[in-house]
Amino acid sequence: MFEAALDTMLIVDHEGVCIEANRAACGLLELPRQALVGRQIADFLLPGANPEGLWQGFVAAGQMRGDLLLRLDSGAVKTVEFAATAHIYPKHHLAILRDITERKRTEAERNALSHQLEQWVISSSEKLQRTEAALRLQQQRVDSILNSLECVVWSVHPTTLETIYVNAAAEVLYGYTAEAFLSNPSLWFSCIHPEDEPLLKADIRTLRDDTRIDREYRIFRSDGSQRWVRGQARLVRNAAGQPTRIDGTTTDISDRKQAELALQNHQATQQAILDAIPDLMMRVNKNGDILNLISGGEITLYGPIPGDRHQSVYVSFPHDLADQRMHYVQLALVTGTRQRYEHAIEINGELRYEESRVVPLSQDEVLVIVRDITDRKQAEAIQADLNQKLQRVNAELNRLATVDGLTEIANRRSFDQALDLEWQRARRQQKSLALILCDIDYFKPYNDNYGHLAGDDCLRQVAQVLNTVVQRPGDLVARYGGEEFVLLLPDTTLEGAVGIIEKIQAAIAQCHLPHAYSNVARVITLSFGVVCHRPSVKEHSPRELVHRTDLALYQAKAQGRNCYVVGDSLS
Ligand code: GH3
Ligand code: MG
Ligand code: MG
Repeated sequence: MFEAALDTMLIVDHEGVCIEANRAACGLLELPRQALVGRQIADFLLPGANPEGLWQGFVAAGQMRGDLLLRLDSGAVKTVEFAATAHIYPKHHLAILRDITERKRTEAERNALSHQLEQWVISSSEKLQRTEAALRLQQQRVDSILNSLECVVWSVHPTTLETIYVNAAAEVLYGYTAEAFLSNPSLWFSCIHPEDEPLLKADIRTLRDDTRIDREYRIFRSDGSQRWVRGQARLVRNAAGQPTRIDGTTTDISDRKQAELALQNHQATQQAILDAIPDLMMRVNKNGDILNLISGGEITLYGPIPGDRHQSVYVSFPHDLADQRMHYVQLALVTGTRQRYEHAIEINGELRYEESRVVPLSQDEVLVIVRDITDRKQAEAIQADLNQKLQRVNAELNRLATVDGLTEIANRRSFDQALDLEWQRARRQQKSLALILCDIDYFKPYNDNYGHLAGDDCLRQVAQVLNTVVQRPGDLVARYGGEEFVLLLPDTTLEGAVGIIEKIQAAIAQCHLPHAYSNVARVITLSFGVVCHRPSVKEHSPRELVHRTDLALYQAKAQGRNCYVVGDSLS
């Protein structure tokens, strides 16, 4: 029965030596019975198991249960569960063993697995916590960044337009809190300028077609003030392609816009000023390309000039004018000085004029200013014509003022002026000045008998004779008054003057002007008074000279007429 028992049974003596072992025990300890009987059971215990202590405890208690680790002769280690009963016979003890190595291994593995699982669960939950904390931190960071941005960052539902998110900048820009936007979906539309609302609505439609929006709008803040904003937005879809949000930013661009508007205003003013300048102003490079038109492109004599195509001056202007223009462009560039020239051109049968100024701007560029000066030129021509006419009129007036109307020789006024001049000159140069006064004899009866017209005619002929005889450039023949004439002969001696008188007498005689009513001859005769004088520095007036000459004439009349009398010299 012992032998056949399924359980492993060993009988050991009081010294712990195996006395008997059944088959199962031999199988467990992997030894034949002969090798097992006689073996100290403690040999199978692993070192450190304290077999002494175990044995004494067992013997004292009478029984013992537990698990043991055994090391077999092959080196294999087995775990056994045992139950030992002491003293089944005197000094004989029974041990029943069960191999639980496999169970223990499974248990150990299960324990290890459960430990691993436990560790994994612990670490996973720690990780989860860490991840959550990191996410919270990240969220805080993102919130902090978003809230520190000056631009409004927002996210709205793609259809209801309810606000999903908006950062703190909304309050600065709009004057409404983020909460106000989150709770009131129409607040965005309340803020938009009414004129820009249709634009915003159109933009939202466009956004839904996946087109990004970048637009400038006007909004009203909660305090009623107006601001300019730039809105940029795009539609966001989830992995399935469904629209989930519209994300965007709104930036305050009022300052920039204000500056832009001011600049536009300034540019418009500047352009208006330039447009008002009738001159053609253009930048031209050294090759003759018109780089840009500054003003007046529409008002040239040659039709509009496109200022945006770098057109050559040879295209914009007639060839010879372009040649001339380029000549001055080169001159301005070479000398570095301004050039100015005028030119005329016939356009549609009309002569037009232009004035060009060429101002060097750099080594390669000049500013060309072309002005239509046709009106000025025409005015100048008219002015020149008027001036000429005026000169002619003045000359005529002058002639009328100085010439005797009947005889067309110098009048008394001319004589008075000439006498003063010649007197001064003679006094200065210490030269003699001769004066002859002559008077037609018995002219009253001539007039009375032949008529006044005949008298005039006679006066003209006598004047003609006097003019013919007196030829030196400085001499002057003038009608002194009535039928009396005066001859002023500078730098002339008395002999010279007398010679002139005799020539006149001869010439008059030759004229045979009949005078049937003269008491001295049958023809016109003249009586002469002559004085020759060299004015001294003390004398200031020629009056005495005239007086003495007149006296001499009077004497000639008194002496019977048709003669001359030399008057007394003044000194
Ligand atoms: P005497 O020989 O002394 O000079 O005598 P007279 O007759 O020439 O001199 P008187 O002074 O008496 O007369 C001058 C005349 O000359 C008066 C006038 O009839 C005439 N007379 C003066 N001026 C003009 C004129 O412009 N045309 C004409 N036809 N006669 C004139
Ligand atoms: Mg007289
Ligand atoms: Mg007379």
